[in-house]
Amino acid sequence: MRKIMMGKVYLIGAGPGDPELLTLKAYRLLKQADVVLYDRLVGQEIIELIPESAEKMYVGKAKSLHSLPQEDINSLLAEKAKQGHQVVRLKGGDPFIFGRGGEELEELIEEGVPFEVVPGVTAAAGCAAYAGIPLTHRDYAQSVRFLTGHLKDGTTDLPWEELVHPAQTLVIYMGLTGLKDISQSLLKFGMSPTMPVAVVEKGTSKAQRVFTSTIIDVFDVATQNEVKSPALLIIGEVVTLQDKLAWYGKY
Ligand code: SAH
Repeated sequence: MRKIMMGKVYLIGAGPGDPELLTLKAYRLLKQADVVLYDRLVGQEIIELIPESAEKMYVGKAKSLHSLPQEDINSLLAEKAKQGHQVVRLKGGDPFIFGRGGEELEELIEEGVPFEVVPGVTAAAGCAAYAGIPLTHRDYAQSVRFLTGHLKDGTTDLPWEELVHPAQTLVIYMGLTGLKDISQSLLKFGMSPTMPVAVVEKGTSKAQRVFTSTIIDVFDVATQNEVKSPALLIIGEVVTLQDKLAWYGKY
């Protein structure tokens, strides 16, 4: 029997939307791929870069009905690589930041499939840059925390006390569904009602929208403007800089 050469899986961060935020390595590997598995957060313009010859597979994301369960994605990756293919697993942002990249790699290790990981621009970095909000600033914030507003069981349970802290920027991923709860909890734990907040919708894409408000008003502002996913919350004094530093779509 002919022995099939083992392929490889490349777990690649596609960045938050703007295709030019792909790394050179991501771009090169994408162009050489035999099979590409991608999910909902990967921008359309990036999907268009996938070569005609490659097998494109949409695997959705866990919350949607039309997506493949995580275990099936994991085994599909291993199966395609074992058939000898160069497999690209394309993820929005960075694969190791709220991207389940770790889970997918564990299965590959179990199956003896070789892999590489290519970092991507995470939503926090992309949205902050394109909204004009430095996440740290010597006058306003000496630290920044990345949090998820959505836990595995669907609840939002964050270490609220630690989050109400001076000179700290909070970046909340997946915070839209739980926005009311998040803002109320932060207020309850002592955050100033006038704490500035930005909601960045579809950051770095041509459709990016940025809404700045305060922690007490953010839920109403997001509701009135019908903010949709994907959206990122940036909470902290640094948000006041947006007025001066916003550049995207301006110049
Ligand atoms: N691995 C990704 C995050 C996946 S979690 C990364 O590193 O960016 C999905 C969440 O990321 C979304 O709910 C949203 O909060 C955020 N997100 C991803 N892309 C975004 C974008 N273009 N604009 C705003 N938020 C985004």
